[in-house]
Amino acid sequence: MHSYSLISPAKINLYLEIIGDRPDGFHELVMILQSIELADRLDIKPSDTQDIYIHCDHPQVPTDETNLAYRAAQLMCDVFPDVYANYGGVSIKIEKNIPVAAGLAGGSGNAAAVLVGINMMWELGLTQPELQELAAKLGSDIPFCISGGTAIATGRGEKLDALKDLDNIWVVLAKYDNISVSTPWAYKTYRQQYSESYVSDAEGIKSRTAKVRSSPLVHAISYKDSSKIGELLNNDLEKVVLPEYPQVGELKSAFPAQDVLGTMMSGSGPTVFALCESESKAIAVKQQVRTQITDPQLNFWVTKLSSSGIQIQSST
Ligand code: ATP
Repeated sequence: MHSYSLISPAKINLYLEIIGDRPDGFHELVMILQSIELADRLDIKPSDTQDIYIHCDHPQVPTDETNLAYRAAQLMCDVFPDVYANYGGVSIKIEKNIPVAAGLAGGSGNAAAVLVGINMMWELGLTQPELQELAAKLGSDIPFCISGGTAIATGRGEKLDALKDLDNIWVVLAKYDNISVSTPWAYKTYRQQYSESYVSDAEGIKSRTAKVRSSPLVHAISYKDSSKIGELLNNDLEKVVLPEYPQVGELKSAFPAQDVLGTMMSGSGPTVFALCESESKAIAVKQQVRTQITDPQLNFWVTKLSSSGIQIQSST
């Protein structure tokens, strides 16, 4: 049996709209999800026992069964009991480069990498749609993390349609180490404040979704019009997160409007990202914001949009 090293990229939301409530208790969403080059690395190999082991030295990442990578491995063991009985457990080492609890789907990406890695290691031969169906059982963002690139996500976020790949756009990410936003809190608060405007009937959801599909942002993506993409970014969750965490709002305002294509909070935050037309611009923008906000808790990353989901880096 081979061992695999996989690249597990982070994502940002170019668009996040909350449309309404679903009977399963989740929100009905329309999102445009985008992979970025900032990524974790996972090494997946057979363990000597029937157990699943997670190794990660990042203090905020659990190494027990609450780790999403563990849950992904457990799911594969449950769905393929005979293969698991034959091959035994799995050992997973996570090199964490993506900031944790940041709205960048780091944990979801790790789970996606485990599904892809175990599919290879156990020679299961599952197709990408089959893997994505399994991924949807674990979390709404995980199917996207498998295929990556640029995609429109509907339903809970698990129904995907690929959009044209975007490249040549650079990203500055900024996040305070000492601020974390609970994703359930953000959605719950949004429901408390905005549920009157929710659409719940199937027809209303369909027409709202269709409107986003034919929206100026989707049009701008199809023409790779970076300036328009930057102007049309949207995230409904900013309406509840920014008032509660004023530092995040101030951070967003600190990005110089004339030097960036656009700025937005990713997912439920607290990471703020700015899109820039070149690497040199992104580095200059980062330095400008750093000069303005000297708080040592504020961290930056400069990265690029990516057209890739989970990638196999090597096998031994
Ligand atoms: P999303 O954008 O999908 O809401 P996120 O980027 O905000 O996710 P994660 O980095 O995935 O958040 O982490 C959320 C929580 O999940 C963390 O508090 C962490 O303790 C836990 N967690 C479980 N497994 C992982 C993992 N493999 N990597 C990072 N965090 C994990």
